[in-house]
Amino acid sequence: MIDESCIFCKIANGQIPSATVYEDEKFRVILDMGPATKGHALILPKEHFKNVCDLNEAYGKEVLALAAKIGQGMMKGLGCDGFNLVQNNGKAAGQTVMHFHVHVIPRYADGPKNIAAWEPQTADGEELKHLAEQIKNAL
Ligand code: 5GP
Ligand code: ZN
Repeated sequence: MIDESCIFCKIANGQIPSATVYEDEKFRVILDMGPATKGHALILPKEHFKNVCDLNEAYGKEVLALAAKIGQGMMKGLGCDGFNLVQNNGKAAGQTVMHFHVHVIPRYADGPKNIAAWEPQTADGEELKHLAEQIKNAL
């Protein structure tokens, strides 16, 4: 299904032009207009899914292999030294466009160094056990 009011639905289906690096029947991969580093790409499904919880099995099965393919293409084509996969779900997690997407962010040895870095908190063994139980019991 396509959401007529969704900008990523329009881009993914070619109604709005984009710098496309890859396209198949399910996905379009475009360059982000506000890149973290040079070549930052977004994998967009052509159907509308709000987030990873909403993604159907057929898309879910393919998306990680596609991310690996794009990352390898970046290493070869852009000469980057690594890449990050980032995928935000929900406003609190930094999701600004409510159409599932995966960021593929090329990383270069000479920087920029800190993209989406977090400050590690501390956690003792008891707390980790308790948190693990809370998640496990909700699965
Ligand atoms: P989120 O924060 O939702 O995970 O990521 C949304 C990303 O989409 C941001 O990095 C933002 O720069 C990018 N973006 C938002 N609107 C457009 C657009 O119209 N075209 C392109 N190419 N990127 C967009
Ligand atoms: Zn959409």
